[in-house]
Amino acid sequence: MKVHDGLYIDGAWRPAEGTGTITVVNPADEEEIGRVPAGNALDVDTAVRAARAAFPGWAATPPAERAARLTALRDTLAARQEEIAETVTAELGSPLSFSRAVHVGAPLLVAGSYADLAATHAFEERIGNSTVFLEPVGVVGAITPWNYPLHQIVAKVAPALAAGCTVVLKPAEDTPLTAQLFAEAVHEAGVPAGVFNLVTGLGPVAGQALAEHPGVDLVSFTGSTAVGRRIGAVAGAAVKRVALELGGKSANVVLPSADLAKAVNVGVANVMSNSGQTCSAWTRMLIHRDRYEEAVALAATAAVKYGDRIGPVVNARQHERVRGYIRTGLAEGARLVAGGPDAPRARGYYVSPTVFADVTPGMTIAQEEIFGPVLSLLAYEDEDDALRIANGTVYGLAGAVWAADDAEAVAFARRMDTGQVDINGGRFNPLAPFGGYKQSGVGRELGAHGLSEYLQTKSLQF
Ligand code: NAP
Ligand code: MG
Repeated sequence: MKVHDGLYIDGAWRPAEGTGTITVVNPADEEEIGRVPAGNALDVDTAVRAARAAFPGWAATPPAERAARLTALRDTLAARQEEIAETVTAELGSPLSFSRAVHVGAPLLVAGSYADLAATHAFEERIGNSTVFLEPVGVVGAITPWNYPLHQIVAKVAPALAAGCTVVLKPAEDTPLTAQLFAEAVHEAGVPAGVFNLVTGLGPVAGQALAEHPGVDLVSFTGSTAVGRRIGAVAGAAVKRVALELGGKSANVVLPSADLAKAVNVGVANVMSNSGQTCSAWTRMLIHRDRYEEAVALAATAAVKYGDRIGPVVNARQHERVRGYIRTGLAEGARLVAGGPDAPRARGYYVSPTVFADVTPGMTIAQEEIFGPVLSLLAYEDEDDALRIANGTVYGLAGAVWAADDAEAVAFARRMDTGQVDINGGRFNPLAPFGGYKQSGVGRELGAHGLSEYLQTKSLQF
């Protein structure tokens, strides 16, 4: 694994002005695997200036040429997929098979989809006596989390480049090595200097400087609601565009007619995969009172089977935080049926796959995002009660509904206050809009809806 000791700015790796370093740790064994520079506000300023200078040229590049660069980027990532998967596993801790299939697989699909969209999207439309041009917003400040290190980057940078925007990326401090590999791939793909820039650094230093920089036209942030709220406030004060992908506390609603075993098993897998570090995970499973104990037994069995198959959580802080939530669940009277707060291994930030029964809607573990392998099972009396529970958090990112037929599930899903719902185990669609209702965020990522976030309109009347 190659580690750069510089920042990727204006088409080259350069020393940082910031003198600090970030130590990257493998959460599976707590060993140091590399150090990267902690860029400061001066570095952010240099990167934003490079992005500004590159903007007019990239914005004027024909969409077909932007599509060709994105195709080359996708191909470069594909050619290096094993190296990327190993890097994600080393700094995030996910099992290598999951890194290959999901951490690399999803970004390849998304990068490919934006190569296609750049080539085919109508960047111009006629409305009566007007021609409306869809023009790039400008310089994008992208701030990404560690939970899907490459996907979160590609979901912002690919549509930004497709639109004709230029980008400064501040990736999460826990997963900067994947970001460095991405920067190498951008370079190899022949994207012109300054169009994409990488500043590794700390959130409150480099991240904040990027969000506040007057040369940034759009801040696209994914992460915690607490930081998202601050970024939204900063962007609001400057009247700059902002896109926020924040937390979730999604409901998996199993209606009485559903195939219970299938719904519960898929539901447990959904929460345990990536060690529960998925913002759209269905962390609350809602079961009808009459089938509740049957579901509890199925969920406990499924979670125990996950025991050795999940990776650690990302860092020591999350290790404490997630196990703290498990202790809170116990203290508030939930019934532990699998897992628990004790660290299952002497080394590494592992958490046992945990299932709580007898969770009531007001409990902390039913309201707050835990971001670990912890599932709560709640009982409902009837459909209206299920809907009240499903909608009863500040979040609205995702969800699932299971029923004997799709139409019954769809009728329920239409009443949920949430951005996306999987019907009877529907598959991930890289072209479908992804984003939140309520405090789960502002804006949408992926597909044509995601591209629109990076475009603004100009109408000419004739
Ligand atoms: P976070 O602090 O919100 O991190 C997200 C990104 O924002 C990182 O790049 C972070 O940099 C940066 N950041 C932090 N403070 C900033 C600031 N003041 N200004 C600008 N950027 C800033 O999230 P976290 O601390 O890693 O995780 C905490 C919790 O957030 C998790 O337990 C989970 O509940 C939630 N989370 C949600 C998602 C999601 O996809 N919705 C993803 C990750 C976490 P640093 O890496 O240097 O902190
Ligand atoms: Mg943080």
